[in-house]
Amino acid sequence: MLLTISTNRKPATDLGFLLHKHPERFQSFELSFGSGHVFYPEVSEDRCTACLMLDVDPVEMARGRRRGDGSALAHYVNDRPYVASSFMSTAISQVFGSALAGRCKDRPDVVDKPLPLEATIDVLPVKGGEDFLRSLFEPLGYTVEAQSHVLDENFPEWGDSSYFSVKLFGNVTLSELLNHLYVLIPVFDNQKHYFVGRDELDKLLAKGEGWLSSHSEKEAITRRYLKFQASLVRQALARLVEDTDDDPSSDDGQLAEEVLEKPLSLNDQRLGEVMTALRSSGAKRVLDLGCGEGKLLRELLKDKQFDEILGMDVSVRSLEIASKRLKIDDLPSFQAERIKLIHGSLMYRDKRLAGFDAAAVVEVIEHLDPPRLSAFERVLFQHAKPQTVVLTTPNAEYNVMWETLPAGSFRHTDHRFEWTRQEFYSWATGIGGQYGYSVRFVPVGPEDDKVGAPTQMGVFTRE
Ligand code: SAH
Repeated sequence: MLLTISTNRKPATDLGFLLHKHPERFQSFELSFGSGHVFYPEVSEDRCTACLMLDVDPVEMARGRRRGDGSALAHYVNDRPYVASSFMSTAISQVFGSALAGRCKDRPDVVDKPLPLEATIDVLPVKGGEDFLRSLFEPLGYTVEAQSHVLDENFPEWGDSSYFSVKLFGNVTLSELLNHLYVLIPVFDNQKHYFVGRDELDKLLAKGEGWLSSHSEKEAITRRYLKFQASLVRQALARLVEDTDDDPSSDDGQLAEEVLEKPLSLNDQRLGEVMTALRSSGAKRVLDLGCGEGKLLRELLKDKQFDEILGMDVSVRSLEIASKRLKIDDLPSFQAERIKLIHGSLMYRDKRLAGFDAAAVVEVIEHLDPPRLSAFERVLFQHAKPQTVVLTTPNAEYNVMWETLPAGSFRHTDHRFEWTRQEFYSWATGIGGQYGYSVRFVPVGPEDDKVGAPTQMGVFTRE
């Protein structure tokens, strides 16, 4: 069984440092079920590939099993030595433990950086087929190539097996890749070679930190990972929701931004412009993505044009506040039927976002990490693809107008970037070209001759 990991980020040989395995050595490790070997079939500045090969010993596995535990022959003759399974996860944690934990003394500057990484899993048993395979990896930002294998070439009428050769391409940190593989490989296989108890719950939460709680398939992943043990699954899902409470928009930062913008009543003007654009698009079914505490949702509810309103946010706390402010639980039924709040992340493809006429994305993109912006673009413009998208973001040029804002600072501590008008224009027209939308730009707030208006808005219309 073979797992390979490659990168072409120069110097590609950094992969050796990140994996803590020297590219020029062939190394072997004793594992409880056989042995693991690490070697590098290609090593250069331009491209480097590391292989982890497992030798699973079926006789060793059969030892210690009680009689009556399945068919006796199956102990010796089975697919385990040839496929990626929970043995691979165990090997990843034992052989690449430091890389999995994201530690690297020799390359501290690279360890937390997303790199162009490619992983090949020679044979992956996928109970659930290619759709399931994609629904787990694609939301994490991977491009997936999957090749299915027939059950028996001599009997094509038997159809395909559940085995796939899988290639993943992603821009992620090595630790993220290894954690994704660690958790998901046994989920596809839907078996474990050891007893699943409480420890397993802790392992899942530790390895799933930072991605599982916002994964659209987190329930399926959790159920399979914990072998459908209802009480463990319940506890895990409850703790995954708690995890997302440390939401990316700190209240302090939010407040500072509001104080700064208040004298301009910018918030009201922004909402006004967004509502005008949504109304004139003719939309009836609208999304408010990154709805926060529900300011826009409240306006949408007031207007009968909108008969289905879906607010989504990654922050559970914001959703709770929105729900309280909008008194969602006490709305009369004709109103309650129009609005729904859901927890989710714009980083992950989400079927619940499909089929809407329009989406508002108000002051959200600047909270996303620039390397992950392309994941958001695909989620919205390629998969959800509403007819209209109304998107706002700060105009960085305007920041000089606020005397209290130190030069070069962002308006909010959680902003990852703030764009000039030119930067927003290039991004928006680029997206438009790529996904077939035309874009109209609207300045929001008092416009200055030199630096423009404080907020910039793009209205995208699908052609
Ligand atoms: N649109 C609201 C809130 C803007 S603040 C308003 O105008 O008042 C930015 C919001 O984006 C926050 O509520 C934050 O939780 C949300 N957010 C940040 N990253 C997100 C992601 N990946 N997916 C969904 N929402 C996200």
